[in-house]
Amino acid sequence: MLVAPTVQPFFPPQRILMGPGPSDVHPQVLAAQAKPTIGHLDPLFVAMMDELKALIQYAFQTSNAMTLAVSAPGSAGMETCFVNLVEPGEKVIVCRNGVFGERMRQNVERIGAVAVVVDNEWGEAVNVDALEAALKAHPDAKFVAFVHAETSTGALSDAKSLCALAKQHDCLTIVDAVTSIGGVELRVDEWGIDAIYAGSQKCLSCVPGLSPVSFSPLAVEKLKARATPVQSWFLDQSLVMGYWSGEGKRSYHHTAPVNALYALHESLRLLAEEGLENAWQRHQDQHLILRQGLEKLGLEFVVQEAVRLPQLNTVLIPAGIDDGQVRSRLLQDYNLEIGAGLGAFAGKAWRIGLMGYGARRENVSLCLKALSDVLN
Ligand SMILES: *Cc1c(COP(=O)(O)O)cnc(C)c1O
Repeated sequence: MLVAPTVQPFFPPQRILMGPGPSDVHPQVLAAQAKPTIGHLDPLFVAMMDELKALIQYAFQTSNAMTLAVSAPGSAGMETCFVNLVEPGEKVIVCRNGVFGERMRQNVERIGAVAVVVDNEWGEAVNVDALEAALKAHPDAKFVAFVHAETSTGALSDAKSLCALAKQHDCLTIVDAVTSIGGVELRVDEWGIDAIYAGSQKCLSCVPGLSPVSFSPLAVEKLKARATPVQSWFLDQSLVMGYWSGEGKRSYHHTAPVNALYALHESLRLLAEEGLENAWQRHQDQHLILRQGLEKLGLEFVVQEAVRLPQLNTVLIPAGIDDGQVRSRLLQDYNLEIGAGLGAFAGKAWRIGLMGYGARRENVSLCLKALSDVLN
């Protein structure tokens, strides 16, 4: 007889997720995911996908036809943008101010393209003047890539100015909006973003594992003019669009994560119901209350106020405090998860997320109370 492992059902505790993601999932989103699975080519599912596309367009503030959710997490959204647009030998200016900018550079290099890195200090926004200097020094650059909201540090970059500058130098822009979507102002069409990717599990408060993406008409032109096929079969948008496009006939590309897409539909529906401006304001309001409390506890922010992300608060760990001990006590005694420092900030800072459904007054209060108890 074959020996089967004896395993009990898994019952996750009810945590409060105030780290860099995943964030607390809205109960209605969890309920949506538990609805009956139907076929991914069922006409009713296809109609749901059309609504989903309109909702993603709203969240991005775009009318781009090539807008969809990649069936994989934010990192796959990143890869989707790079592998579809960038061809071997092409030059990409990558603005790096944290972990995710570095991953962009790695994507470029793996394609066999050339990454020109514009470095910024950790905790700072991408420097617009430094990008301008790089654009002047590299007139053959075809793309500018940067992270709108750098989750490893908590810094917000000026996407509008960076994109305007890129356009002046005839570059297409590739923007990471994984943490910014739903949490801070984001206007894809108005700012001239050509390729953008986001994530389901940060300020959208959806389950992890999906990545909304959008390509401008210029980006689509670039994709169509490629000399070589996209190296990734799965992420090749010209194939994926055969499944996602609204023109009646849909063809099988891969089995869509049906229930996860119900969840994304519900989370974006909730966002639309609240209204983008209200959601941005809510993140800012809760951030200000949290900030006041953290400062009262003597905690110091890493990022300067002018470029601080409301949804990701990075504070220095006070001298003499054991990072791991504090975070495990928060988890054990308060069911509260906050984020550890990443990269250059590992062991030096905490990252407190106020993302989506998690950006609520009661979460802020709990976090301040718990931190105060544990630190004293
Ligand atoms: C979380 C995150 C990613 C990666 O998303 P995954 O869903 O973890 O793959 C990329 N960029 C930024 C800025 C992020 O915060």
